[in-house]
Amino acid sequence: MADLTMIAANLENIHARIAAAARAAGRDPADVTLIAVSKTHPRAAVLAALAAGQAVFGENKVQEAEEKFPIPGAKLHLIGALQTNKAAHAVRLADAIDSLDRERLSDAIAKAAAAAGRLPELLVQVNIGDEPQKAGVPLAAADGFIKASRARFGAALKGLMCIPPEGVDPLPYFKRLAAMADAHGLAVRSMGMSGDFEIAIAAGATHVRVGTAIFGARPVPPGVIPATHH
Ligand SMILES: *Cc1c(COP(=O)(O)O)cnc(C)c1O
Repeated sequence: MADLTMIAANLENIHARIAAAARAAGRDPADVTLIAVSKTHPRAAVLAALAAGQAVFGENKVQEAEEKFPIPGAKLHLIGALQTNKAAHAVRLADAIDSLDRERLSDAIAKAAAAAGRLPELLVQVNIGDEPQKAGVPLAAADGFIKASRARFGAALKGLMCIPPEGVDPLPYFKRLAAMADAHGLAVRSMGMSGDFEIAIAAGATHVRVGTAIFGARPVPPGVIPATHH
């Protein structure tokens, strides 16, 4: 459950940790954007964070995001696997879609953007650990897909996103994503969550996606065995 009274203090704490990690890496803290991941938490939690100065939010389900957003002054990133039949809603609602990972989704986004007259910022999600169960473009296809996305969407393609494998040191995966973004001349690297955002900042993250450490633990759906955290 989101403890609304803790959100401002949690945000302050995360900002201090982001700044310390950036300085330790010889980076400017202002070059790291905090995406507050509000999935499963109520709109009231988003409003509490907004009142505390947090302007950028992440949601992983389009329908749930539509129940909370748009909120004036809040920027919304969709960070979850996106079905093509949700692309039109996503394009209308989101400021950024961070999970572009296949040609058919590109087709659906391009069509929806033409109809809506707006195109959100886009990140290509890379399956950086080549894990069969995970979303993201497979490593072998990543360079080609990034090039094709750049050709199709131009400057709207801002960068790359990844979720490294659980239970292992994420640093080599973060470094790999940063190198891939460099190779393609892309500025944005969205990587790092509550458990590993400082490591991601050391590897060059420009966006970190933090949920639990701001809003508290998410409810576990019945029947689901919680994943062990690294
Ligand atoms: C839920 C989620 C996060 C936030 O995870 P926490 O461990 O709660 O910080 C970050 N990125 C994505 C893609 C997510 O789905």
